[in-house]
Order: sequence, then structure tokens, then C-alpha cells
Amino acid sequence: MEIRTSFCPRCGASTEGEGLCGRCRLAGTQWIECDSRAVHTYCPSCGAQKRGQVWTDSEQVRDEIGPSLALSAVHLHHEVRRPEFQVTIRDISSNRSSADVEVSGFLFGEPVREVCTVELVWQKEQCTRCNRIAGSYYEGVVQVRATGRKLTERELREAERIANETETAHQSEGDRLSYISDLQVTRDGLDIVVGSQSIGLGITQAIATRLGGRYSTHPKLVGEKAGRPIYRVTYLVRLHPYLRGDVIRVQGSDLEVVSVEGHHLRAVDLLSGRTRTVRESEEKRLIGHRSGAVDALVAYIDRGMLGLLEPESGRTLEVPRPEWLNVEAGDQVRVLRDGDRLLVLG
Ligand SMILES: [Zn+2]
Ligand SMILES: [Zn+2]
Repeated sequence: MEIRTSFCPRCGASTEGEGLCGRCRLAGTQWIECDSRAVHTYCPSCGAQKRGQVWTDSEQVRDEIGPSLALSAVHLHHEVRRPEFQVTIRDISSNRSSADVEVSGFLFGEPVREVCTVELVWQKEQCTRCNRIAGSYYEGVVQVRATGRKLTERELREAERIANETETAHQSEGDRLSYISDLQVTRDGLDIVVGSQSIGLGITQAIATRLGGRYSTHPKLVGEKAGRPIYRVTYLVRLHPYLRGDVIRVQGSDLEVVSVEGHHLRAVDLLSGRTRTVRESEEKRLIGHRSGAVDALVAYIDRGMLGLLEPESGRTLEVPRPEWLNVEAGDQVRVLRDGDRLLVLG
């Protein structure tokens, strides 16, 4: 095997390859460049960070951001191998820090080392979301109402919870402008003021689906921006007139509502025990709610009839015995009054 030794044409040192030796190549190469300053822009209200023109929510504090901010100012020759960094930061004022970055590594087989100093600038800027909220900017209002009745406490709580969940989902997907800027219980129901139409529709659909109801959207032209029309949208969610547990009279039958779905009800016939669907178009009369039922004593059972001791008057009233009810004389049953009738709920 022939051993070939080359010599560096500049310094005469022996080299493994052709051309200049590592040390001479290094001497002619600028292997590190440091920007004199690095700027971190953050929102003083919510802590969001700005990169380029994009705001991102962040929980990071200055001590965590400093080292990577300093490193963002350091640019290495692409052939530097095994680089190592040591960052030391001193705070100078509330909006300035000084970072010493010590860099070491290898280039062309030669060890390199350098220290550079980067001024860290902590720049405050109100983010787009806080700016909008501060300026009372909004794109829509979700109005939650019930049909022919007031919202129940449970519906109010549920609607609020659904709204907050929807906001969390939008924000965690990076949709920062989908915020709720106000949420108020009014005499008529619940009003939710939202920062974007996408969250407005999201909340509306979720409440209508989960609480049972329908919705309509009413856009209103409020102005123009850069030649494009700007709309503000009112989302009206109308919850169903009836609730689970309501007892209603439909076509001569007494029914208890077991679930409310978009356009219809599922209800149990109090006499037969069978479940049926009640369409929106069917005429209904509200008798009361299960929570208003009272105890009545079964005085006797006579074929298809129950003799019930009326709770208030102490008189005995005969009612048809529900087919599904397993009861003996002396038992208590829950009843709901409808005029001079008693309905057995079980
Ligand atoms: Zn050389
Ligand atoms: Zn902010």
C-alpha cells in the first residue's frame, strides 16, 4: 500500500487530504456570528408570546425564556460539530438583560471556543386578544332562552359549563380570538358575548344539542373594514318548552317526559308504561313536574282500579291502576294532581 502524505500549501504542515490544513482553513473562516440583541415580545396582560406576527399563549416565565432567546442570536458555521453552549444571564433593568453565551465545539477537526454577549430586550405589547377585549370588541352574542318558560337553574349551569368548555377547546387549538368576553344571566335567560363567530356557533350548537332545542342565527351588518363587510351575529338558542320529568297530556293520554331531543320528546305513558315519541306538532298541555308529586296511600285495589287516600282532604279517590305498577294495599305511591284527578307516577 502506498502511503501518500500531503502538505498544507500555506503553513507546510502535513495533512490527510488535499488543500489547506484544518488550522489554516479555520483561520480564514468566520465560524460564529452573534446578533447584538434579541427581542422577546410579550403581552403584559396575559403573558402571550409573539413570534413573527403570531401570538401564542404561554406559561413560560423570563428565566425559562432567557437561555433560548440568547441562543436565537447565535449563528454557527454549518460544519461546526458537537457544539456546546453555556448561557449566563444578568438582569439589568425591568426590560433589559445581558446574556453571555459561551460556545465551544469542533470545526475542520480543530477545537473552537468563543464567548459573545447578547442584549436581551423584554418588550411589552398588548396582544390582539387583550386589545380586542380592552376595546370591547365582539363578533356575536349567544342568547339562550326557553320557550314559554324560564330557564331552570340546572339549564343555566349546564349552558355556562358548555360555553366555558367550548372556549377552552378553541383556545387550546390556538384559536386565541375565540374568547368569551362576557357571560350574564338576564331576566330572559343567558347571554354569552363572544370574540369570534366560530366560537359563537360552536357554543350555540353544543347547547342546542345537549340541552334540547333549536337555534337560529341573525347576522347584522355593523360596518366595513378594508372593503369587507363586518357582521355581528346574534345566535338565538331556544330550549324546548318541556323538561325531563314534566308530566303532560297529549291526545287524552298522560305522559312523563324522559328525554328532550331536537324536535321531539320521548315520554312514558303513565297508564301503559310504554315509551312513545311526541312530535313538536302534537298538541300538549303541561300538568306539572315530577318534583311536585306527593305521597298517597293505597287504601284498596279493586280489579283495574286503585283507591287512593287523597293527601290533603283525606278522602278516597279511585283511579285506574297503571298496568306497570306493582303495588299492594297499604303502600305509598307518588301522585301528581291535575284538577280533580290524581295521576300515579310510581
Ligand atoms: Zn496549514
Ligand atoms: Zn394578551
